[in-house]
Amino acid sequence: ARGFELSEQKIAEERTHDKDRADRATTELVLDHRTRLILAKLLKKGYFDEIYGCISTGKEANVYHGRTHAGEERAIKIYKTSILVFKDRDRYMSGDFRLRKGYCKSNPRKMARSSPMTPASIIHSAGIPSPAPIAVRQHVLVMDFIGKDGWAAHKLKDAFQKMSTDDVHIRQCYFELVRYMHIMYHQCHLVHGDLSEYNILFFEGHPWIIDVSQSVEHDHPHSLNFLRMDCEHLNSFFKTNRVRVLTTRELFDFVVD
Ligand code: ADP
Ligand code: MN
Repeated sequence: ARGFELSEQKIAEERTHDKDRADRATTELVLDHRTRLILAKLLKKGYFDEIYGCISTGKEANVYHGRTHAGEERAIKIYKTSILVFKDRDRYMSGDFRLRKGYCKSNPRKMARSSPMTPASIIHSAGIPSPAPIAVRQHVLVMDFIGKDGWAAHKLKDAFQKMSTDDVHIRQCYFELVRYMHIMYHQCHLVHGDLSEYNILFFEGHPWIIDVSQSVEHDHPHSLNFLRMDCEHLNSFFKTNRVRVLTTRELFDFVVD
C-alpha cells in the first residue's frame, strides 16, 4: 500500500512539474526558444518523457534519443528550420502531398482528421522496415527508435565491417532492398531520392530505410533521375562488398516494371 501511495504522489508531482521536466529534458541541448516550446508540448502529450544524448548532428538536422516512462525508445529529429520551410514550399508547389492529405475518396467532403499521410507513414504502412512516425510538429519529428538501449543501429556503411565480404546476409540484404524499392515505387508511388548506405540502417538482420523527407512522388518531373541515382548508389555500395549486383539499368527496369 505504501508503495502505491508513493507512486501516486510521484505521479502527482510529475504532473505539476511538467515545465520543470521539459526544462530538465532539454537543458543539456542547445536549442532555440521555439524548439524548446515544441519539445515541451510534445513531452506534455506523452510522446516522450526524456531526451538523452544526441545520436547525430547533420547539416540539415540533429537526431536525439528519447524515452517514455514506459521505456519505449524514441528518435527525435529536429530540422534546422529554414531548410524545412524551403522543402515544404517545393513540395507544396509540386502539389503531391496536398492530394494525399487526409483525402477520403468515398466522401470527398470528409477529411480524415487523423494524421496526414507523409512519406514516412506511407512507407511504414506498406510494410517496409522503417521507423514509424509518431508525431510531427513544425520542424520536429518524433519516430520509432531503430536500435536498442540507446544504441542506434549501425548505418549500412558500417554494418558490414565485421562480416566477411562473402557473407550471405550481405547478398540477402541487397535483394531485400531491391524488393523494398519495388514496393516503394509501385505501392507507395514514391522514390526515396537519397537512398545510400548512409540512409539505411541494419537492424535485426534487415535493412531499415530512413531519412525519407526528400522523397518525391513517382510522377514528379525528376523522379526517374532520382531513382536512377538511388540505383547507382545502392549498386556501387554492394559492389564494394563483393555482391554480384544487377547492372544499374537492370535494377532500374526491375523497380519500374
Ligand atoms: P540527416 O538528415 O542528418 O541525414 P537522418 O534521418 O539520415 O538525418 O539521420 C541521421 C542519423 O541519425 C542516422 O544515420 C542514424 O544514425 C540516426 N537516426 C535517424 N533516425 C533514426 C531512428 N529512427 N532510429 C535510430 N537512429 C536514427
Ligand atoms: Mn541521412
